[in-house]
Amino acid sequence: MHSKTIAELAEGLKIGDFSSEELTKSFLQRIKQYDAELNSFITVSEDHALAQARAADELIAKGASSVLTGIPLAQKDIFCTNGIKTTCGSKMLDNFIAPYDATVIHHFNQAGAVMLGKTNMDEFAMGSSNETSFYGSVKNPWDTTTVPGGSSGGSAAAVAARLAPAATGTDTGGSIRQPAALCGLTGLKPTYGRISRYGMIAFASSLDQAGTFTQTAEDSALMLNVMSGFDEKDSTSVDKDVPDYTANLSQPLNGLKIGLPKEYFGEGLNADVAKVVEEAVAEYKKMGAEIVDISLPNSHLSVPAYYVIAPAECSSNLSRFDGVRFGYRCEDPKDLEDMYKRSRGEGFGEEVKRRIMIGAYVLSAGYYDAYYLKAQKIRRLISDDFKAAFEKVDVIMGPTSPEVAFKAGEKSDDPVSMYLSDIYTIATNLAGLPGMSVPCGFSNKMPVGLQIIGNYFDESRLLNIAHQYQQTTGWHKQMPEGYK
Ligand code: GLN
Repeated sequence: MHSKTIAELAEGLKIGDFSSEELTKSFLQRIKQYDAELNSFITVSEDHALAQARAADELIAKGASSVLTGIPLAQKDIFCTNGIKTTCGSKMLDNFIAPYDATVIHHFNQAGAVMLGKTNMDEFAMGSSNETSFYGSVKNPWDTTTVPGGSSGGSAAAVAARLAPAATGTDTGGSIRQPAALCGLTGLKPTYGRISRYGMIAFASSLDQAGTFTQTAEDSALMLNVMSGFDEKDSTSVDKDVPDYTANLSQPLNGLKIGLPKEYFGEGLNADVAKVVEEAVAEYKKMGAEIVDISLPNSHLSVPAYYVIAPAECSSNLSRFDGVRFGYRCEDPKDLEDMYKRSRGEGFGEEVKRRIMIGAYVLSAGYYDAYYLKAQKIRRLISDDFKAAFEKVDVIMGPTSPEVAFKAGEKSDDPVSMYLSDIYTIATNLAGLPGMSVPCGFSNKMPVGLQIIGNYFDESRLLNIAHQYQQTTGWHKQMPEGYK
């Protein structure tokens, strides 16, 4: 049962091959068996999951179910879940039980999906290796001496090891696509505003977007159908119809124009990864696509601009964690100032503190124009590069990550080299565009991801392009040894 896709499981539930309760129990059993090693879950909500599964079985018996009814899923621990601990990977929220559901969680509940638990993540979603979590690092099931990527590394590891058929993630600079690439999964970050951010703990509000980790593009479409849509509780969610994302999956790709940015194939890209990605592009050519060389001339500025804008926004967003209203409070404070200082000092980890300090600096009166304003101007140039590219091509392809999963600890003392893990993903967030990562082969026995970037709200096309590739190749079906 555990190696099936959402679509296959939904069929099994419908025809009565198994119940949601049996299915949920089998995934809970796998979590017990494997997660001590992987550490992909912070909280396993067993009783809640079984109650949801029984309720789903009743709906199915009554004929009142939809596709996701009874399907077990893992949720990134950045989404608030009513009555169940929500930590965002931080000591600061170790005792936080949200009094409400994030809109994404609400949608899944309405659809009758089952939540197995909350997945591990880099603290406040800051990281590319899942080594900054207060709850310990997550291991990559393909090789447990390597990282799963971050910040949604728990979701990626859990789905790769089939401890859940699919999971949610969030992507501020690459946190869905990069771990999807490193763990051999299909990852989708939709257009900014496609999915409500209400109840999703904020890192950098103008960049954060929820999305999916699945085995296939079809599953991703099924989840997106449920997650998307306008939400009056999030003024940045876009009031635009939600199409049926499964409707165009089978469209042929004849005449599709694929742009290859020369900046995504230059220095810094591992030669083996480049080869695997080029072979994937060649496969698209065989399917009738036309390959066009393009340039995104400001690409080299995306990491520096991001590391001004994201810290600026996080320093503001994280100022609410002050030990007063909720979250961690230090023991025996001397006075108010001591309480603020020690609660924040003890509650946040190193990487979060580094970002808050950078953010406060670039927003300060003397440096605002020099850093923050300049970064915003660069952000516009980067968006304009994409706009020009999409006049010539339908989608853009390239590698998701410059290399396969690296060894745990390898980049922990070198933040800049860690930041460069997202060199090909960050520009998409700065522009607000949708992007996917699709498994396209292996290098040194580790998965490689192909990135597909689309124009605004062109998720249907991205899913179609990924789905067609998954009809002719089998990379997405590979599973790590030891978890089969
Ligand atoms: N790795 C990037 C960072 O640390 C992106 C994280 C994310 O997308 N949440 O900021």
